[in-house]
Amino acid sequence: MPLSQNAIDQHTLKLEKGAVWLVGAGPGDPGLLTLHALAALQQADIVVHDALVSAEILAMANDGAEIESVGKRGGKPSAKQAEISQRLVDLARLGKRVVRLKGGDPFVFGRGTEEALLLAENNIPYRVVPGITAGIGGLAYAGIPVTHGAMNQNVTFLTGHDPAGDVPDSINWPALAISSDVLVLYMAIRHMPAIAEKLISCGRNPSQPVAFVRNATLASQHVVETTLGEVGEVVAAKRVASPSIVVIGDVVSLRGLIGWVENS
Ligand code: SAH
Repeated sequence: MPLSQNAIDQHTLKLEKGAVWLVGAGPGDPGLLTLHALAALQQADIVVHDALVSAEILAMANDGAEIESVGKRGGKPSAKQAEISQRLVDLARLGKRVVRLKGGDPFVFGRGTEEALLLAENNIPYRVVPGITAGIGGLAYAGIPVTHGAMNQNVTFLTGHDPAGDVPDSINWPALAISSDVLVLYMAIRHMPAIAEKLISCGRNPSQPVAFVRNATLASQHVVETTLGEVGEVVAAKRVASPSIVVIGDVVSLRGLIGWVENS
């Protein structure tokens, strides 16, 4: 047996019948899957996945696995979160080996907690397999480190909209604007003009660099760089689109020096 296969086998955990694994698939590049995620795909009876999980990753499931999409795709509406959580419980009760596959990390703006809560409440055995989140690994593929000692000692991850679809008002914007050196925003395109305005009116420098990284880690990765003051125009001109990670902070300027993915 080749050494590498041996190493994989050594780390392979058994996905039991009637159990659910909440698995992070990473931002898109299949090479960013963990060994546990790969083992999950190899053992699953059913893979319940979101729209953000790439076809290439789904193709790594074993041939017998049923693949079920619960995300928005092809114009079909996405299933409600409560229905998805219940579906996992029902599948486990049928004795299936269930893999719930999510983009990035299941516990980073991924609603994994709702699912874990219902599984725990129903005494369904489950495991969480963390994944590489788009706001760290995705930015690395754009040549943007989320921390650089000479530039920032903190970083904040936030969502661009609350469960009702509005700019989150539970966030203390004035504090964030002046105290967080780097802001990384998920699901933020629609509200970016309003968020940029809020940050500037709370004292953040409008000339601070901003990057929008679309389809991070995939062949279609595309990066648009701008400044905080010009975010409104960039969004209005439709130069950016979903799914994108948005990063605000001086670290964006490192991209010119250490960016390593071509044509993005
Ligand atoms: N759990 C995921 C985030 C889910 S929220 C994670 O940890 O990465 C969905 C948002 O994630 C998208 O709106 C987008 O902002 C971001 N995202 C996920 N994958 C992405 C990718 N490959 N490129 C850019 N943004 C991505």
